[in-house]
Amino acid sequence: MANEMKKIDKNGLGSIISALLEKGYKVIGPVLNGGAIIYDEITGVNDLPEGWGDKQEAATYRVVKRSDKALFGYVVGPHSWKKFLYPQKTKLWEAEKNNKGFDIKPSNGTAVKYAFLGVRSCELNAIQIQDRVFNNGMFADTFYNKIRKEIFTIAVNCTQAGGTCFCVSMDTGPKAKGGYDLALTEVINESGHYFILDEGSEKGREISSKVLSSEASQDEISAADKAVKNAEDNMGRKMNTDGIKEMLYNNHDHPAWALIAARCLSCANCTMVCPTCFCANVDDTTDLTGSHTERWRRWDSCFALDYSKVAGGNFRTSIKARYRQWMTHKLASWIDQFGSSGCVGCGRCISWCPVGIDITKEVELIRETAKA
Ligand code: SF4
Ligand code: SF4
Repeated sequence: MANEMKKIDKNGLGSIISALLEKGYKVIGPVLNGGAIIYDEITGVNDLPEGWGDKQEAATYRVVKRSDKALFGYVVGPHSWKKFLYPQKTKLWEAEKNNKGFDIKPSNGTAVKYAFLGVRSCELNAIQIQDRVFNNGMFADTFYNKIRKEIFTIAVNCTQAGGTCFCVSMDTGPKAKGGYDLALTEVINESGHYFILDEGSEKGREISSKVLSSEASQDEISAADKAVKNAEDNMGRKMNTDGIKEMLYNNHDHPAWALIAARCLSCANCTMVCPTCFCANVDDTTDLTGSHTERWRRWDSCFALDYSKVAGGNFRTSIKARYRQWMTHKLASWIDQFGSSGCVGCGRCISWCPVGIDITKEVELIRETAKA
């Protein structure tokens, strides 16, 4: 049976947040903080960035005041949901010295029940990509999966595209196709300000049943579809992905890699903001008495020189080799490794690269004179 679409208003959204809090979820949503829209804990609808949008271009991110009271009138900011599913630092184990040796205490991970509000379609796809990294049959990451299996997801369909977005090229948006408990489309027009609410799971139906809603009319659903189509038709960027895997594999020596490397600072911003990047390193620390030690996993980056240091030397000493590795992994070898591209077209690496290196333009630069 097809889902009946519901319509809610801002108060209805507030009731969804309250119902999730009552069920013991820690609700995470968009908030305006420090000149950016980031993801943080919220307790009500008034925490959302009402009336704020963002403007993005290569090496540019600015929040801007909108002329309306949209709650989701921005695109994506510097944070992604990986910050919660795969935290930047995780204690793996600790050990305490005793009379015979050491007691090792493994860490059990964090048992937080998160509800994510405002997950964009590209981000839902990024979560599904990280699922294949952290739970792929061969390897299951206990820490990731413990948090992942508890999350409640409220997707928000995009009704405008950012200047660096290209989800249409990557077939990851702007409308969420699944993987959510509830999905919202925000509509602001002459009929008012409302949200079309779609239930994607039993958990979602249970929460939405606690909220005052009405059945959405065909006109209201059409207005929501039109708003999403507006995002689809106005992508800031596009990427031609035809044969991209073979093109990158066959152009390891293309002169464009050196041109990109001449600009790249190897700062790793692109990998930190990317919702699918997952490189990590492991640090051991010991206290000064030598009786307590801890092992931590922390985010790392393939742009860091030490990341490619192995016994006997370093196999990616040049920035050219590191950038080529990153882009070729994202767009080519990821497909062989995990069955999909590692890029969802969110545009973060373009906006947050301090020198404006643009993955869509760099692909074109190679394609223009690529060896077949
Ligand atoms: S591509 Fe840009 S963001 Fe990435 S390492 Fe180079 S300078 Fe930093
Ligand atoms: S490579 Fe860039 S555009 Fe693609 S998912 Fe990562 S941050 Fe987003």
